[in-house]
Amino acid sequence: MNSKTKVKEAKPADRRPIILIVDDVRFNQEVLVSLLSADYQVKVAGNGFRALEIAQRSPSPDLILLDINMPEMNGYEVFKQLKNHKSTCDIPVIFVTAASDSDSELHALQMGAADYITKPISPAITLLRVKYQLLIRFSLEKLNLASIVFDNAMESIMVTDALSNILDTNPAFSRMTGYSHEEVLGENPRFLKSGYHDQAFYEAMWQTIITTGHWSGELWNRNKFGELYPELRSISAITDSLGTVTHYVGISSDISLLKQHESKLEHLAHYDALTSIPNRVLLADRMKQGIAQAKRERTMLGVCYLDIDGFKPVNDNFGHQAGDQVLIEIARRIGNTLREGDTVARLGGDEFVVLLPNLNHLEECIATLNRINEAIAQPFHIQEQTVCLTTSIGVSIFPSDNKDTDELLRHADQAMYVAKQSGKNRFHFFDPMYDQQHQAYHEAMLRIQEGLDNDEFELYYQPKVNLCTRKVVGAEALIRWNHPERGLLLPNAFLNDIRNSELEIKVGEWVIETALAKLMEWCEADFSINVSVNIAACHLQSTGFVQYLEKTICLYPDLPFERLHIEILETAALEDFSVVASTIKACRHLGVLFSLDDFGTGYSSLSYLHHLPIDTLKIDQTFVRDMLVDKGDNAIVKGVIAISKAFELNTVAEGIETMEHFHALHALGCEFGQGYAIARPMPASVFHDRYNRDHEIN
Ligand code: C2E
Ligand code: MG
Ligand code: MG
Repeated sequence: MNSKTKVKEAKPADRRPIILIVDDVRFNQEVLVSLLSADYQVKVAGNGFRALEIAQRSPSPDLILLDINMPEMNGYEVFKQLKNHKSTCDIPVIFVTAASDSDSELHALQMGAADYITKPISPAITLLRVKYQLLIRFSLEKLNLASIVFDNAMESIMVTDALSNILDTNPAFSRMTGYSHEEVLGENPRFLKSGYHDQAFYEAMWQTIITTGHWSGELWNRNKFGELYPELRSISAITDSLGTVTHYVGISSDISLLKQHESKLEHLAHYDALTSIPNRVLLADRMKQGIAQAKRERTMLGVCYLDIDGFKPVNDNFGHQAGDQVLIEIARRIGNTLREGDTVARLGGDEFVVLLPNLNHLEECIATLNRINEAIAQPFHIQEQTVCLTTSIGVSIFPSDNKDTDELLRHADQAMYVAKQSGKNRFHFFDPMYDQQHQAYHEAMLRIQEGLDNDEFELYYQPKVNLCTRKVVGAEALIRWNHPERGLLLPNAFLNDIRNSELEIKVGEWVIETALAKLMEWCEADFSINVSVNIAACHLQSTGFVQYLEKTICLYPDLPFERLHIEILETAALEDFSVVASTIKACRHLGVLFSLDDFGTGYSSLSYLHHLPIDTLKIDQTFVRDMLVDKGDNAIVKGVIAISKAFELNTVAEGIETMEHFHALHALGCEFGQGYAIARPMPASVFHDRYNRDHEIN
């Protein structure tokens, strides 16, 4: 539907119009009153004085029907006085008189009367004339109001004809554009065009006006002095009763202030208040653009995370104001090293991020990083002193690190941390491969912790026998993981993931506590057997190991503590022999015994035996396996047994897979052994059932 504005007929206000009848003859008064009172409020004055009095009273009449021929003051005199008075001069007056000659009529009209009716009156003609006079009066009133609005409006108003030639403008238009009313009359408003909008913009605007009759939006125009200014404009098409466009009205407000305010807010939201360079918000936006560009153009985006080395002392020694000045200078120096299209942003404190989009080679990135390092290394002059700063930079590169903005930034931050760790004043590139491994490692750790929490671990026990008596003398506790998805896992499948971590210690403690509880249970059931647990070198060397062990075994005061043996793993990882020796000594003081596991592998050396107060050597299974076929292995096994004897230690051979091995080891003088030929590791209950009555193997 076309909603174009129509020119409306002026309409009296909603109140009934007031008509004052002035006549000295009662009959005449009555004729007019009866004629008019149906549609109007009628007031009557019998003489001129009374008429003036009523006319000046508020609300004043909208029309006066004035008899000419009256005693004391005739109609002409009353008329003159009405016209002389400010409050009554605008009231239209129709003379009603018996004088029907054209001279009198002419005289009345020349004086300014609105109309002239002769007596005896024709009721129909009188009614029509009254109606038209009122219509004119109210239309004029409305027009007057419209012109006041037009002249005083704060908005600029422009009226054109159907061909867009300017017909009228108001004073606000001249204030906004600098053009006077006369200068623009007849012109097409396109002279205000700034070139800011393209042809398509204007075409769309006119299309909207043609189809809907209205358009409103922001326009950038140029004033008489060549200055660009933004306006909010609405344009309406005016149509006649047939729907044909007759005029266009454009109403505009200058929104320069609003725009300035908007851009101030925009600046605050996107730029760092101190250095005026982009902040984190704008950086995220630029990173997104950079990633999109790298994908589109098959280039790389470098994300460089900078942290100024030793910035804190600047603040501490010279105050925050000086610190701020240095940050501003740093931002400026970094900016100077960059290409067009690069971004330097401040994240806060002394942390900056440089984005290097559109890289073809890493060398371009490295060249920029070197420039940045050099620029920052130039001395700063603060309060007549010279201060030198350096910077550590971490870099992630998209798409080799194919991640989103947050992660790229995090990776660059991680790499920056590495740069700091490796001595500062350098840059370091983030390595996605390393990160992947790190991630997998991290997940594996979490899963093991979860396994501990969910009680998914179990100790299996493998018998150790006296090769001479064939009696079972002990059991080695070996950890297993009843993994809900992957089934029963052997230690090699998961222990590597927690090497040298806090979690390795937690798992070690779980092993000690579980083995002790089992030992106690068996002891109470009269099943006297030794149990050895495997303890990682890192756990043994951790601070508080002795206290922990003491506290834990004291929970079982009735247990003969010499039944607990500790097998020390990875002897190569033992760092300070004297510290380890005193740990072992303190534990032995509690009664616990020690073995060196896997002897002969790694960096086993005789000095272990010399320094560490241990009880047993375990010959590693790799030598046992081939001792029957490999002379070298056979010699090692012999040697270990001899050394063991020399140091008065017990010897345990692991990995006895056949009875030939069993006999050969026995013949060589090895006292104890364990291996599949005797039994595989088994759950505690199976171990108990099998060996609790009969300690001897067949
Ligand atoms: P280890 O302490 O030298 O334990 C002996 C390993 O040899 C066990 O493997 C055992 O099942 C296996 N074994 C025993 N007899 C034979 C045999 O005749 N032939 C062969 N081929 N293997 C035999 P498992 O249980 O897989 O444990 C492997 C290693 O994991 C252990 O070597 C030990 O270093 C470590 N480990 C096991 N349990 C724990 C634990 O509770 N804590 C820590 N920290 N490490 C453990
Ligand atoms: Mg062992
Ligand atoms: Mg071993």
